[in-house]
Amino acid sequence: MIYTFYSCLYRMLFFPNRLYEVNAAGQTVHYSPYNGKVMPGYMFAGTGFWDTFRALYPFLNLVYPSMVKEMQEGLVNDYKEGGWLPEWSSPGYADCMIGNNSASIVAEAYIKGARGYDIETLYQALKHGANNTGPNATGRRGVEYYNKLGYVPYNVGINENAARTLEYAYDDFAIYELGKALHKPESEIAIYKKHAQNYRNLYDPETGLMRGKNEDGSFEKPFNPFKWGDAFTEGNSWHYTWGVFQDIQGLINLMGGKHKFVEKLDSVFTLPPIFDDSYYGTVIHEIREMQIANMGQYAHGNQPIQHMIYLYDYAGEPWKGQYWARETMNRMYRATPDGYCGDEDNGQTSAWYVFSAMGFYSVCPVSGQYALSAPLFKKLTVNLENGKTININAPANSAANKYVKTLTLNGKPYDYNWVDHKALLDGANLNFDMSPVPNKQRGIKDLDVPYSMSNEK
Ligand code: CA
Repeated sequence: MIYTFYSCLYRMLFFPNRLYEVNAAGQTVHYSPYNGKVMPGYMFAGTGFWDTFRALYPFLNLVYPSMVKEMQEGLVNDYKEGGWLPEWSSPGYADCMIGNNSASIVAEAYIKGARGYDIETLYQALKHGANNTGPNATGRRGVEYYNKLGYVPYNVGINENAARTLEYAYDDFAIYELGKALHKPESEIAIYKKHAQNYRNLYDPETGLMRGKNEDGSFEKPFNPFKWGDAFTEGNSWHYTWGVFQDIQGLINLMGGKHKFVEKLDSVFTLPPIFDDSYYGTVIHEIREMQIANMGQYAHGNQPIQHMIYLYDYAGEPWKGQYWARETMNRMYRATPDGYCGDEDNGQTSAWYVFSAMGFYSVCPVSGQYALSAPLFKKLTVNLENGKTININAPANSAANKYVKTLTLNGKPYDYNWVDHKALLDGANLNFDMSPVPNKQRGIKDLDVPYSMSNEK
């Protein structure tokens, strides 16, 4: 376990890569992939935000905020030199994956306290990216439809349209939250709050799943929820249905309440690992990895579903998340050459393990909260840059004692299924009393659940 933890920690910290150096005069300079010149200031590369917004950047924000500041300065330079924020920088603007998740990277850093860089330019860059289609994967493909209809239609020749819609909606939440933090007028940011609810447009009440929608408002037909790609990206509807990071309560309401929501979460693991690969014409390795993992439709080898286990926290059954997080850590990771259950993906797959071993995970990075689970070790200490420490103690932890009986935060009983970023930054003592049986009385109340837009007063 300890080897796997440090192996993951080591590997995730390769990303993103520094693309700058210090010249003979002591100045920080970088080679610009946009104009081919040596330019002043920071720049980073080797990161795909489609992957890394989920847990890698949250980890950097928690443990390496001084480097996050450099990364944000690098993004300012990307925008000034290239006209867009990168979505997949290897370096510059690679034509890879989907979404406009630079919004999460920028908003999360500022909301979690990063300062001392040109946030105004980054805010303008986010608005520019959210309302235009850029070169390669920058900006938003299908934005003219998205802004008019509230979704990118299935039948207008834009691939992976449902996945784009879901990610744009989360990205709109990020822009709205950043706008609020910057005290932008409501008249300017209300549109992003509204669009953050666009996930609703793809929810199909008939199947209880997300489904591609045609321009005329009818759903894609025929619909096979086990079909990878097509309306989705490297995943199927069973993976992307959970992609509502900003408003899981809204998704619960659409599905008919917590009980039905939990039933659906459970089904992910009990369904057979069947698939339709006709969009790709071949079994892509991510599909094969889901099969080999033998956890039903739970495809931990790829990103779209990696936060799903933590959604039990939102429905008052956190012990099920504690069970599956431990299973996934044990079954999907090894400190060996073939130790990953899929691609490492710029540190994201390792970051999942490192967070899960600590006992919490960033389902919605921009919210500033982490969804709680159970830690992997008896003791884990995180040394923060501000000199404070996060002490995670679970002395009774073992292979059998994997459930949280009780938890205290700084000595006080703590029944919430979330912990705040600021509480961790202040230095936190999390003491877990572990048990071989779930405590079905803890974390079950409506007010115990992590952040959702629909629960905002
Ligand atoms: Ca991947």
